[in-house]
Amino acid sequence: MHQAPTVLLVLATLFIAACSEAPEAPELAETAKEAQAISAIGQIDDARINNADSEPGNWLAHGRTYEEQRFSPLKQINKETVKDLGLAWYKDMDTNRALESTPIVVDGIMFFTSTWSRVYAIDAVTGEEKWSYDPQVPREWGRRGCCDVVNRGVAVYKGKVYFGSFDGRLISLDATTGEKVWEVDTITDRDRYYTVTGAPRVANGKVFIGNGGAEFGVRGYVTAYDANTGEEVWRFFTVPGDPSKPFEGEAQKLAAATWKGTNYWEYGGGGTVWNSIVYDPDLNSLYLGVGNGSPWTREIRSPGGGDNLFLSSVVALDADTGDYKWHYQTTPGDNWDYTAVQDIALADMEIDGVERKVLLQAPKNGFFYVLDRNDGTLLKANPFAAVTWASHIDMDTGRPVEVEANAYDKEAQWVLPGPLGAHNWQAMSIDVKAGIAYLPVQENALIYAMSDEYHKTGLYKRHPGRFNLGLEFGRIAQLFVDNIGEQPKVRGYLKAFNFLTGEEKWAVEFPHYWNGGVLATEGELVFQGNVLGMFAAYDTETGEVLWDFNTYVSMLAPPITYQIDGIQYVSILTGTGGGDLFSGAPIDPAANPASLTYSNTGRLLVFKLGGSESLPSPTLRDMTIPEQQLAAVSDEDLAKGEVLYHDFCAPCHGLIVRSGGVIADLRMMGAESHTNFDAIVLGGLLSGAGMASFADSLTSDDTALIHDYVKARAHEDRGLAMGEPDAGRLTWLK
Ligand code: CA
Repeated sequence: MHQAPTVLLVLATLFIAACSEAPEAPELAETAKEAQAISAIGQIDDARINNADSEPGNWLAHGRTYEEQRFSPLKQINKETVKDLGLAWYKDMDTNRALESTPIVVDGIMFFTSTWSRVYAIDAVTGEEKWSYDPQVPREWGRRGCCDVVNRGVAVYKGKVYFGSFDGRLISLDATTGEKVWEVDTITDRDRYYTVTGAPRVANGKVFIGNGGAEFGVRGYVTAYDANTGEEVWRFFTVPGDPSKPFEGEAQKLAAATWKGTNYWEYGGGGTVWNSIVYDPDLNSLYLGVGNGSPWTREIRSPGGGDNLFLSSVVALDADTGDYKWHYQTTPGDNWDYTAVQDIALADMEIDGVERKVLLQAPKNGFFYVLDRNDGTLLKANPFAAVTWASHIDMDTGRPVEVEANAYDKEAQWVLPGPLGAHNWQAMSIDVKAGIAYLPVQENALIYAMSDEYHKTGLYKRHPGRFNLGLEFGRIAQLFVDNIGEQPKVRGYLKAFNFLTGEEKWAVEFPHYWNGGVLATEGELVFQGNVLGMFAAYDTETGEVLWDFNTYVSMLAPPITYQIDGIQYVSILTGTGGGDLFSGAPIDPAANPASLTYSNTGRLLVFKLGGSESLPSPTLRDMTIPEQQLAAVSDEDLAKGEVLYHDFCAPCHGLIVRSGGVIADLRMMGAESHTNFDAIVLGGLLSGAGMASFADSLTSDDTALIHDYVKARAHEDRGLAMGEPDAGRLTWLK
């Protein structure tokens, strides 16, 4: 078991106060002065973030400003000039896993994160690296995340850089040198699979950070730390704990009344805040975007019903104390993995003739919410995508009206949105004046089915070390085979959506749902990198493509823009993965991600008008499946292998052993990997590369079944590729 990192609280201003009346310790005072002196850059404070529009050349906070609208006032690059946009330079990031970071740009430096929570500070004009910091996340930790070893960025505040490491530490670095200032362990229970991938937010002298892990079974919470010292200020749990122990506060007591059953807390409950935390300086509130339930199925999680607060909710807290103010639950009794962790934006705008302070969110469940952020009153809730789980939101009760015919408690059902959501963490951009949100939209249904174990026995056991969804995930491939004829069309969109009226201004369709975050600007442009590898600028009025650039790599990260010495730049990170690893290669090759056709090369790309740099030519991926040494295996054993594969391997290696191009495609294993199969899966031979041992969950009998299934699938697909398909159960794949 990994050792919890020790808490290191280091000097800085803690000692300035402590030593001001302590002349016997001049060396400490000197150190404190040095610490201040070397933090000359990154001196972002609350006033600067509050007035971010007075320095539009910088990108000071995760969503640019506290309001997180991700709408830039810069317009040197605009409708007329964008045709001259070209690559200024690029930086290879030495990774082929997903890059999801939003950079911070200040003092001519860009601060951002890469995979395995590595942090970079580079010259934002030249790309020259100033420093980098590697928190040395143990690679075995790769197994503990649902959605790749990603990180969505840093916060910069008063000369320090803050980020969360995948293994759950919050780390503060000196912005000038990259030296560690302090580090704390944010995880309450290291026997559970918590991870941190979100960008911390900083305001009012505090750093706020949540975590992920609801798929595995954890209890969500957010912690506030003193930005100077790393000392814990408050912690807010989003779901109730063991009711035989005292509640942490009134909010947890309120929440517990909405949970049923005798052991819901043993599953963890979920409600992880893994992405959006937004600070509101006007009301001194902190808004948490709260995640899905654990397990996903409510009948198992909370037998007897209940809304299960605060799952799938926006929760408002007092930023200073962590005290509960109000909540709005987007999906009462979440049953589908409908997180409400998607980016929250704030705005002051007129709604139906009344000037209001509003909160905007497009969570996974497919409805775009406009709330009054004084008290959480629901003002608007319009669908922005195809939705089949609910017909509409009842504006009198504020609750969704579920479509009973699409319930999956008795038999399997395709439901839209699926668990990747109608919108995931990929950022949206809000033009408040126009009342338009530009956002990536997904239509990708899942065939939801209750756990067989639960159907047969009425019982459900939490399995440590793997997904605990309450769904029949092991049999998911068979469910696809049996129900493929009913599957709704799979696609993605970039939409310009009027969130007040629910009207779609325009939409651009993509053959694949998993596209990148969005940036809109005063230059009347919307920038987005997509799954096909195109980084494009669209006309905000019409959605027409005005410029594009082939990066040959699929993108998820949101672009940002900044201006230094009179030159505007647009930057984006390339490389896909994240929550979509499970889906693997599309059934329709026309929808193949660029990263599957070529390679998933992680790069930082920076563009300017007149830029003339070019990228190296990509090489086509060799998709040849080697001939397989097949053993005689019964259909029964193949079916067992298929279930084990989907329970343990598919979340990373992909549905039906078809990788989406990020994690190794097991159909293409060479002779050595076949020989070492047990040494890898049980012995941890490749744990240094992130493939940790599964010896805690699988036996060598299990791995033999998995290995045979993998080989059988490789054989089937080799036959398909060579035009000699076995007439078998996978004929639908043609
Ligand atoms: Ca989830």
